Formats: sequence, structure tokens, C-alpha cells
Amino acid sequence: MRLIVSDIPDDGLNMEADLQITVREDSEKENAHVSIDVHRYGKRVLIKGIAGMSSLFTCSRCLKQFYLPLRADFEEEFLPEPEVNKTVEQELTAEELESGFYSGDEINVEDLIREEMLLAVPMKPLCKPDCRGICPKCGKDLNDGPCGCKEDEIDSRLMPLKKIKESFKYRKE
Ligand SMILES: [Zn+2]
Ligand SMILES: [Zn+2]
Repeated sequence: MRLIVSDIPDDGLNMEADLQITVREDSEKENAHVSIDVHRYGKRVLIKGIAGMSSLFTCSRCLKQFYLPLRADFEEEFLPEPEVNKTVEQELTAEELESGFYSGDEINVEDLIREEMLLAVPMKPLCKPDCRGICPKCGKDLNDGPCGCKEDEIDSRLMPLKKIKESFKYRKE
């Protein structure tokens, strides 16, 4: 989905589309529904929109695969890419730093949506906020109920505390 800058009418335009994008390196492309409002002021282009998709993730605690809904609300400004000499000899202005760039007469909307969607991806995706994960000892999915090794786990966690208490005892004596 490419936007031709010189084709944008003075009163702007609205586009609605389904794009095939991928938010994970290893994944198949998935469908993102996109709705954008585009305005052009001279060569400056403002794109406002929302995008939503459901992407298959692996839960970082229980390792189950699940579909995570992703949503992005964005407003992005695009300027024509600065001339080569300019980037070498002059620093970018504050306005340019906050903007995206387009080269030629085209803006690649797919790239924009992909970037916005990536921002919506959590660092550690969870199948549900209170996912209990899997037991590090026996590998049982603790969402299905507790496993037999829970007692040992608590003991080993208390060990360092016991040692600290013992060292305090020594100091008192
Ligand atoms: Zn999980
Ligand atoms: Zn276990």
C-alpha cells in the first residue's frame, strides 16, 4: 500500500485497508485492519490513524501459543527526505527529527503500520496477566493446577534467608 504524495487532494483523503504485515521475524504475515486520514500541507504529509490486528505469540511464562490483539493509535508526520549534502553538512532540525521521511513521491504505508504495530508489542507477551507459567522442575503447566514439587521450591527459596539468620546469631554471640 503506497501513498502517492502529489495525488493527495487538498482536502485530504481517508483510506481503509487490510494489510498483510508481520510483527515477528519468524512469523507468517498476518492481517492488519487499517484506517488512516491523510493531509498534505505543501510537501509535508500528516497521517493519522488506527490499526488493529491479532498476532500469534508464544507466552513468555507457559510457552503456549495464543493470539494477542494489538492496537495502535498514531499520528505521524512525513517530510521529503533531505538532500544527501544536507544530511552530511547540516544537522537535522528538531522538526525533522520528529518526522518520518519519504523519498521520491511515495510513502510506504505498510512500513509505517508495521512500525506502529511493533510499538504495541509487549516485551514479554503473556497469554493472560496472571499466567502461572510452567514448573521449572517438572515442566507442568501450573495454570492446570499445582504440581508435586512445590514444597521443595519453597524450601530452596528460604535457604538463603536461613543462612542470613544464622550469621546474625553468630554476631550476637
Ligand atoms: Zn501463559
Ligand atoms: Zn513441578
